[in-house]
Amino acid sequence: MKMQNITVLGATGSIGVSTLDVIRRHPDRYRAFALCAHRQVDKLFEQCLEFKPRFAVLRDAALAGDLRQRCQAAGLATEVLHGVDALIELSSLPEVDAVMAAIVGAAGLEPTLAAARAGKKIMLANKEVLVMAGELFMRAVREHGATLLPVDSEHNAIFQALPADFARGLDACGVRRILLTASGGPFRNTPLEALSNVTPEQACAHPNWVMGRKISVDSATMMNKGLEVIEAHWLFAASPASIQVVVHPQSVIHSAVEYADGSVLAQLGNPDMRTPIAYSLAYPERIDAGVEPLDLFKIGRLDFSEPDFQRFRCLQLAYDVLNQGGTASAILNAANEIAVDAFLSRKLPFLGIARLNEAVLNALPAGPEGSLADVLEADANARSLATKMVLEQRFA
Ligand code: NAD
Ligand code: MG
Repeated sequence: MKMQNITVLGATGSIGVSTLDVIRRHPDRYRAFALCAHRQVDKLFEQCLEFKPRFAVLRDAALAGDLRQRCQAAGLATEVLHGVDALIELSSLPEVDAVMAAIVGAAGLEPTLAAARAGKKIMLANKEVLVMAGELFMRAVREHGATLLPVDSEHNAIFQALPADFARGLDACGVRRILLTASGGPFRNTPLEALSNVTPEQACAHPNWVMGRKISVDSATMMNKGLEVIEAHWLFAASPASIQVVVHPQSVIHSAVEYADGSVLAQLGNPDMRTPIAYSLAYPERIDAGVEPLDLFKIGRLDFSEPDFQRFRCLQLAYDVLNQGGTASAILNAANEIAVDAFLSRKLPFLGIARLNEAVLNALPAGPEGSLADVLEADANARSLATKMVLEQRFA
């Protein structure tokens, strides 16, 4: 088998580190070709020492200068670049076989889109790409013959449970519904009155998964599940009405597909992102991911319930923007990024996240998602309005 050169966007994050762990287990198959991060120079340097990538990228020029010096002093041949143009280049270079898209938020859109336009194999964790620009991105994947493999555990499960030719249409494949499972996050049973005092530490303490801070807060508001509904819509051309969220607190069933004959195919496993990461790296083969085997006897039981759209307002907002179409979901995504950031820096209460998102959606009209410029403009407008609302303490 030919050695695969992998570009890891977001190498220092939770998904990036898990990706490097799988790569570490298979040095005969995968090479970390380019490692990219935002500002974590220490962690990226450590990764450079171990994986000796051809390229390393930081967003900031000064920090990249620091990393360059350290790499040179350590005798590494790694070339250090900086900025978004470097991310775009390293997602599209001919030597690159696959791109792990694991930047958090809108910052990942342009490099991931570049990977699609270069016809790469894309392992997509960065769901915000599809939420912001699903139509554009899926078109780029089709037109440039890119291979898109979902890494988000639910979508990876759905991908595994669908027939290989699902692109000809879910109806044609006899699919009736997609059952998108959700843990319900840390506040599934918290009394509503107590939610107003939730701290960032409490919100980031997810019962089943260890993840970056943004997705952890999104899980606590269930905005994450809302973003995933939109993600599923674009990945599988599934209508909003055919995507059913199922609360399943154990996170053992990662999602399921219901067929016309009554069959339901699910994918199960321990909650460990190395499973979908290894799946996407090796597809269509299977490799060891370092994940503990699932012990059904230890788990004993699996529970399911319907989602509470009153408590988790953000989940409803996601269905609303999906039905609305155009740039509405980019607006929601941008407002939410600002809201989560404000919550993490204690400028917005937990319940203010949904209220801010809704206020921004109500204030800004959505337009058609014609081009990348339309998406970026909607994103910028929503960010500035959301930031203004935070500063005015509208929901404090
Ligand atoms: P994280 O915060 O742990 O890591 C984010 C990574 O992106 C870091 O390496 C950071 O340096 C990089 N980054 C951030 N801003 C950047 C910028 N402007 N330019 C370049 N790089 C930048 O996040 P995570 O938990 O690893 O999540 C990454 C993505 O994967 C998110 O979109 C998340 O929704 C998705 N995801 C994560 C998990 C999980 O278990 N962590 C599961 C499913 C999906
Ligand atoms: Mg998920």
